[in-house]
Amino acid sequence: MSEELNGLNRGTTSLTLMLMGFDHALDKKLVQLKAALREQPFHLDTFQDAMTQVETVYDELEGQTQHSIDTFRALFQQLLDEQGQTILSPLNKETPLLTDLLSIAEPLARHFRTLSRFDPAEPGSPDLEDVRKRLTVRFKALIETLMLMGDTSGTLTQLTSRLDENPNWSMLDELAQKTIHLLNDRLQEEKQQFEGYLSELNAKLTRIQQIVEADSTTLAELKELHASFNDSINAQMHEAREKIDRHYQVETLKSELLTSLDSIASRLEAYQSSYESKLQTLQKSKAEMTAHVIDLEKENRNLLTELHKERQLSMLDPLTGLPNRQGFDRRLSAELARAERYDQALSIAIIDIDFFKRINDEFGHLVGDKVLKMMAKEMKRVCRESDFLSRFGGEEFVLLLPQTTLEEGLTAVDKLRRHVETRPFHYQNTPVNLTVSAGVAQRQVNETLESWLDRADAALYVSKREGRNRVTKANQ
Ligand code: GH3
Ligand code: MG
Ligand code: MG
Repeated sequence: MSEELNGLNRGTTSLTLMLMGFDHALDKKLVQLKAALREQPFHLDTFQDAMTQVETVYDELEGQTQHSIDTFRALFQQLLDEQGQTILSPLNKETPLLTDLLSIAEPLARHFRTLSRFDPAEPGSPDLEDVRKRLTVRFKALIETLMLMGDTSGTLTQLTSRLDENPNWSMLDELAQKTIHLLNDRLQEEKQQFEGYLSELNAKLTRIQQIVEADSTTLAELKELHASFNDSINAQMHEAREKIDRHYQVETLKSELLTSLDSIASRLEAYQSSYESKLQTLQKSKAEMTAHVIDLEKENRNLLTELHKERQLSMLDPLTGLPNRQGFDRRLSAELARAERYDQALSIAIIDIDFFKRINDEFGHLVGDKVLKMMAKEMKRVCRESDFLSRFGGEEFVLLLPQTTLEEGLTAVDKLRRHVETRPFHYQNTPVNLTVSAGVAQRQVNETLESWLDRADAALYVSKREGRNRVTKANQ
């Protein structure tokens, strides 16, 4: 086996490891996948079989994760119904924890797919350099996603800067190992936090249950007390009435009646003190229960903040930090509703970097990525606060312009285009020209997103055809 192939093997093995530790069944399939990769001579069929099995297990795992989220959500829904609150309604939307996991696993899975097609013996198969570069880019995206979750120790920053140095296979292997550790640690941490939270929640629910049970006992006792008090008063009144009927001598009657009244009074006193103490018990338990509920609400809110952070993450493009398609869709529905409610104009622009392929070809993918990041930053800088810039992928950006007509949109996007044109970008002291072309379209009444984007895209195409570095209005 050539040294390069060895390196490739090691690199792939370590990337396989990145998916490990999520699930036992998946781990087993990954081990088989690694074995298939190491087999000599290399059998493409065996490798592809192993790959399919990994995918099947992964799909199942996805289903299971969904199930546990559903269970969790149901538990909260129950709580919600009891409290009549809506604090947890955001849980009903997406599945943030799952998408996060997927965003890590999917790019890697795609690389295995690439490898499965790789046969070094066959003429015309992709050369290893290209594979290595693509793996590096993917790897970097993964680390950048992790960075969005925070990088207090600075380890991830170090890893990315080492990835920028165009690492060779053995270095990639080492960096991948480090990442696996980090990822596992973080997952472990998250798991522990979540489990800790669930067990606390469970304890609190148990306590509330106990209080409710104790309260119903007290209530039953109160009812009984009241009934027996009534019986006894009735009996004494009856006795008194009999005495009146029997005794016509006033003196005797008076003293007997007094005795009866005394007895009634003491019975009443006993009842009152008993009643009060029971009432106090009830009040105390009510206070305790309220405290528990407040506590629970607070914790739920904390959990929601965490989930919100994760959901935000799943709506961001890891490379540029701009919102991705998911983020765009979410914002779009809010803007559409607003535009319709107030009958306001709403425009969209598709912005595409000119001759971007040349940047990649001349300077490599990593430089290409840097340019994308820089472009995103620069474009964001000239956008209005209310504009919404997103990246669906590739070197195209979609800009949503609320309260903007076609003419205003043209002016705004042209300002952005000029800004990009005048940015000095250098690669190893050589100036590199960077420009963008764009198409702008204002939304028509009841127009579908598809048709709206299509019109903007057609306008972009006109900009390209007419020489690039320009903005074109769509046909209205
Ligand atoms: P045009 O002016 O017609 O838009 O030319 P172009 O070269 O920009 O357009 P083309 O669609 O032919 O090529 C786009 C290139 O963008 C191809 C692809 O390699 C590159 N690209 C897409 N996404 C990424 C990415 O995430 N990182 C890097 N580095 N390159 C990317
Ligand atoms: Mg382009
Ligand atoms: Mg393009």
